[in-house]
Amino acid sequence: MSDLRDLYQQTILDHTRKPRNKHEMLDATSSADGHNPLCGDKIKLFLKINNGVIEDISFTGSGCAISTASASMMTEALKGKTLTEAQPLFERFHAMLTSPMDHEPDIESLDKLAVFSGVREFPVRVKCATLPWHTLQAAIKNEHRPVSTE
Ligand code: ZN
Repeated sequence: MSDLRDLYQQTILDHTRKPRNKHEMLDATSSADGHNPLCGDKIKLFLKINNGVIEDISFTGSGCAISTASASMMTEALKGKTLTEAQPLFERFHAMLTSPMDHEPDIESLDKLAVFSGVREFPVRVKCATLPWHTLQAAIKNEHRPVSTE
């Protein structure tokens, strides 16, 4: 288990140091701002949706290691997916992070996103990990109101 934990931490560190898809998108079809006042994480998410498919996804902003890694890995996981596929992924990710510690979380279908299962131990950090996903929900709805986790 500690080997697995090391692997998880390395993956998160790697995405924090070299975030994937971190840039503005000039031809985005929708975007949204997210803010986690508890930690100070800020994110702007860009989506290019064509025929219900997330053709491109990127983000900008600044935040802690967890929020940056989560945004980076979310963009990797969602690029090329349909909106219909993205929704259950969000729900499973959220369920994993909020499941009680004495329950083995269902991580099977989450692939690489399972690295965030350890965040459950730090309830304050759960909002850092879910911020990009909540912002995604807003971007899909094309809301222009900033999102807050509060
Ligand atoms: Zn944070």
